[in-house]
Parts: sequence; structure tokens; C-alpha cells
Amino acid sequence: EAVLEFEDTALTYRTASGTIEALVGVTAAVPKGCFVSVIGPSGCGKSTLLDIAGGLLAPTSGSARLNGEEIRGPRRTTAMVFQEAALLPWRTVRDNVAFGLEAAGVPKKQRRERADALINLVGLDGFADKHPGDLSGGMRQRVAIARALAVDPEILLMDEPFGALDQQTRMMMGTELTKIWERIRCSVLFVTHDIPEAIALSDEVWVMSQRPARIKERVVIDIPRP
Ligand code: ADP
Ligand code: ADP
Repeated sequence: EAVLEFEDTALTYRTASGTIEALVGVTAAVPKGCFVSVIGPSGCGKSTLLDIAGGLLAPTSGSARLNGEEIRGPRRTTAMVFQEAALLPWRTVRDNVAFGLEAAGVPKKQRRERADALINLVGLDGFADKHPGDLSGGMRQRVAIARALAVDPEILLMDEPFGALDQQTRMMMGTELTKIWERIRCSVLFVTHDIPEAIALSDEVWVMSQRPARIKERVVIDIPRP
């Protein structure tokens, strides 16, 4: 059962100097509860594909569906994590994590409980009352992941979430993300240029061609999870 489906999805950017074909005909689906990574050369269209999934861009032609419904704009139940955590600096870690729950009208006590559970899940016990400025880059990305998970997303979309971290932190965050994912097993589409990272984290890897990109290969990673 697919949660996210692309069907002959194409996207052409229009700029002052002409057009840029980013995607030409992407057909692929993220099975429910699977962790799928997208790899490919820089500039091939990975972010574009993710932005379509998140409803930030509309395909020029073809279709993109979430749980069978055409994606038309961002949804509260689609969570996105980018290279920069973009946390609100004046809010505590807890209130950053609870941000989406406020918008959803969840009462304060429940927001707090849910936020604290997620803060523990991402390994930030004891940091709920700190502010983003007190945290390292890796810790801020953990907060961004907790914030994304707070809304219990239909799909979690991640665009190079560890791209700004040093290599050692990046590897540690990969291990951390696997642990988190094994506890919640939500559907994930994850963009990375790091092939070992993609293989370590994923059930399936989509290899994109040079721009204009299509999916050149779909690789199922058949390593049993612990
Ligand atoms: P990737 O994530 O694989 O690096 P992107 O999806 O960011 O690739 O970009 C795909 C192509 O589309 C690139 O050539 C990029 O320069 C171009 N592109 C991305 N965003 C825009 C935009 N807003 N306007 C015009 N061209 C863009
Ligand atoms: P990525 O890290 O995904 O490769 P880039 O660094 O290529 O992203 O692009 C960063 C931002 O600039 C994105 O918002 C993208 O949409 C935009 N962008 C990229 N290429 C172009 C372009 N040729 N014209 C306009 N905007 C662009």
C-alpha cells in the first residue's frame, strides 16, 4: 500500500532567462511505513521532488498523490525537515516541538506531554527548557525531527537534514535516526547525496539520473533490521 505516489511527475522551472527542466517523468511510490532515500547528482532535482511531495511546488504535468489524494499545497500532516532546523530562537525546545500542535488546537497539557515524550525519543532528555541557541547543530536537528513528528505525520520528508553537520556528527545522527525510526516506523522520503547514509538508513533507495531527472534505478535494501 503506497502512501506517496508520483506518476509521470514532471516539473519545469520558469526563470527570467528561460526554463529549466528539473524532473521529466518520475513514477515511483513510497510504500506505507517504509524509509525511502533519494540519491543522485547535485542539481538533478531531488529537492524539487521532495518539495512537490510537501506541496510546496505543483508539478508541471503528471500527478503526485498522498494517500490517494492529489497533493494541492502544504498539509499539516506532511512534516518536512531541511538542512537548517529553522527553530524559533525565542522559544524553548519544548515550545518549538509543540509548535504544530498549537496550530492544531491541542490543549496545553497534552502539548507539553507529547513534546516531552518526543524530546526523550530524540535523545534530548533534560533540554526541554533550553533555547535553540544553547544547542549544537546536531541537537537542533533532533529538535527539528521531534517537531516534525509531533503532528503524527502521514509522511516525513527530509532534505539533507544532516548536510550542515561535520562528518562525525552526521554519522552519529544517522544512527540516531535509525533508532528513532525503528520505534515509530513512519513513512519517510529522505534526500541525501551520501550513498552510505542512504544504504544504512533505508528500505529502498531511488537513484536519480542527471537533470532532467527521472528515477534510473530503484534499489531495495534487503538487510534485516534488528
Ligand atoms: P538537487 O536537490 O538534486 O540538488 P534541485 O531540485 O535543488 O536539485 O534543483 C534541480 C534543478 O533545478 C537545478 O538545476 C536547480 O538549479 C534548478 N532549480 C531549483 N530551484 C529552482 C528555482 N526556484 N528556480 C529555477 N531553477 C531552480
Ligand atoms: P540544494 O541544496 O537542494 O541543491 P540549492 O543550493 O541548489 O539547493 O538551492 C538553494 C535554493 O535556491 C533553493 O530554494 C532553490 O529552489 C533555489 N535555486 C536553485 N537553483 C536556482 C536557480 N537556477 N534559479 C533560482 N533559484 C534557484
